[in-house]
Amino acid sequence: MPKKCIKCEKIVYCSDLCSEHFKGYFEKKIKRTIKKFDLFDRKDKLGVAVSGGKDSTTALYILKKLGYKVEAITINALINGYSRKNLANLRKFCKKYNIRLYEFCFKDEFGYSLKKITEMARKKGLNYSYCFICGVLRRYLINKYAKKLGFDCLVTGHNLDDEAQSFIMNVFRNDLILARRQGPISGERKSRHFVKRVKPLYLCTEKETTAYSKLMQFPVNYKPCPCREGAYRKEYADMLDDFEKKHPSIKYNIIQFFLRTVYKMKDKDIVKDEKGGIGICRQCKEPCANKICKRCEILNALKEKKK
Ligand code: SF4
Ligand SMILES: [Zn+2]
Ligand SMILES: [Zn+2]
Repeated sequence: MPKKCIKCEKIVYCSDLCSEHFKGYFEKKIKRTIKKFDLFDRKDKLGVAVSGGKDSTTALYILKKLGYKVEAITINALINGYSRKNLANLRKFCKKYNIRLYEFCFKDEFGYSLKKITEMARKKGLNYSYCFICGVLRRYLINKYAKKLGFDCLVTGHNLDDEAQSFIMNVFRNDLILARRQGPISGERKSRHFVKRVKPLYLCTEKETTAYSKLMQFPVNYKPCPCREGAYRKEYADMLDDFEKKHPSIKYNIIQFFLRTVYKMKDKDIVKDEKGGIGICRQCKEPCANKICKRCEILNALKEKKK
């Protein structure tokens, strides 16, 4: 017998609710998250960092629907057909909902695609994964253009699963600096160098976001990025999925633990960390944990090649 919705007689679609009740529940959850963590208000100009995936598209759609001032910003890392398809989907989506989309590209900014940059960095002894380099360079560009475009907040589509993975990764690496930068409002919360980053899907699971995106028939790509295979993060995602199957709510509990502890830590507590706290990159003068930030390290490897 198919399970029935806990609120009506219809068949369950997701989270013990039929499709209609699930839609209302999901949208309300995001509204509550914005309020609970005081993420932004109606006068803020929000830049939503979109990838063409289900999470950021869902965040963009709901914020627009709730009446916030939103614009979209995307970074094309030139991952062959994957990036092309995502960009086509984004253009279609933004056109349909009348949302301004800003597009920036690795080739224009750095001269090369993600794959090429990763190869070049590896030749210089920087043995980083595609995802690591992609993340560092994307964050840099998004922050740079968010400042230029005058966004008050930068919205990302990170969901509860992403955040639980990140926290456990940081625990396993004993990286208090990075762990402290996580959360519904993330990054260097008080730094004038960074636009405030906020995560309205913070309490929505991966399963719920996928269900919502499919229900709304958003034009998004559900296939994983071809560069993701073998990435370190995937090992954590698989591990937590296994645990969640055996012990439901484990991801939620990880997030609650984080919010009650590390998220509340003050800068002075972090400085006590054995890595010496937050410093300034000697080259770009942006905050970082080492003498030279990862972005400068990667970009230096490209410059040397061009000589
Ligand atoms: S999966 Fe990794 S390489 Fe692919 S877009 Fe995401 S961060 Fe970049
Ligand atoms: Zn129902
Ligand atoms: Zn730097």
